[in-house]
Amino acid sequence: MRYFTHAFAFVVLGLVAVGCASATRFDSISVRGSENFRREVSNSLTLLKTKSPSFYATITNNVAVVRTGARVEIEIHTDAKPARLLLPASVPTDSTIWRAGVIAHFAYHSHLYRQFLLDHAGIQCVPYNEFRWRDAEKRCLEFQLGALRDLGAPAGEFARAQSEPHTIENTNPTHP
Ligand SMILES: [Zn+2]
Repeated sequence: MRYFTHAFAFVVLGLVAVGCASATRFDSISVRGSENFRREVSNSLTLLKTKSPSFYATITNNVAVVRTGARVEIEIHTDAKPARLLLPASVPTDSTIWRAGVIAHFAYHSHLYRQFLLDHAGIQCVPYNEFRWRDAEKRCLEFQLGALRDLGAPAGEFARAQSEPHTIENTNPTHP
């Protein structure tokens, strides 16, 4: 009977160990998801760190967590804490450089949001125009293109960045 008890305890500990392995720390960023996801994100962050240090500094100052999500999304906190970036699992067309550019783009949305709070003491609500829409989106796109330049991205990835539905939507001039 005692052997059965030990066997059960081993299985439970094994499951706990697997659960703990789903997060990796890359400098100040916690990367959470499958082993493949964590490797891909870490590869993109490595590229940024080595080939684009100033962009990398902006990213690490403004993103605390990168984890898997159904679509690309940045969860920005209202109290100026660094944000959580959600990324979907990669598809074959997503190169390591491309994903680095996406990380840079959304980190810059967080940067604009947090910078507004720093520049406007006492204001709790950041207008969309300051961190999301129109000129703000163009600044995020420029930051993404700058990262792609530093990383030596192929021409097709610059064109892809400029035609992303997210950017088309956010630069829509009908936004108030
Ligand atoms: Zn954007």
